[in-house]
Amino acid sequence: MSELLSQFWTEQMQTALNVVVVLLIILYILSIVWVVRDAYLRGTLWYIWGIVALVPILGLIAYCMLRPPLLSVDRDEQELEIALKQRQLMKYGECATCGYPVEADFVLCPNCHTQLKNLCSHCQHALDPAWQVCPYCATPVGGLPRSSASSAPRRRRTGNPTGQA
Ligand SMILES: [Zn+2]
Ligand SMILES: [Zn+2]
Repeated sequence: MSELLSQFWTEQMQTALNVVVVLLIILYILSIVWVVRDAYLRGTLWYIWGIVALVPILGLIAYCMLRPPLLSVDRDEQELEIALKQRQLMKYGECATCGYPVEADFVLCPNCHTQLKNLCSHCQHALDPAWQVCPYCATPVGGLPRSSASSAPRRRRTGNPTGQA
């Protein structure tokens, strides 16, 4: 009975041991791959860290302690910067005459003084030159020379100075 039990036990033990050894080997290889990849992504000497990672467990611990600061932080920062620039680009336009960056509600190009928008005579909001009525207060925009408006759907390219002082 005990013989049978011991035989059964050793078989189980053997299987479990095999599984554990295989798992450890997989983990070991994965740790080396991770260290090399991580070191490469961080722009360090990845082959040196790969050699360090060959030392089981200790190599991995050493890398985790000594690895260079996170690149992902830089990446996040870059993404933020890009998002900020895109937002600025959305907020800013370009002067049709000189290409100077102008904000969406600029009335005049600060560089070449081209009139970009009209001012509503009633509420003083900046209006697109193509608009015939103020969308803020429904006041009609008067005194606009609208000769080219029918054929030219482009708005900001015209930049024609209007008679409204
Ligand atoms: Zn300009
Ligand atoms: Zn208005």
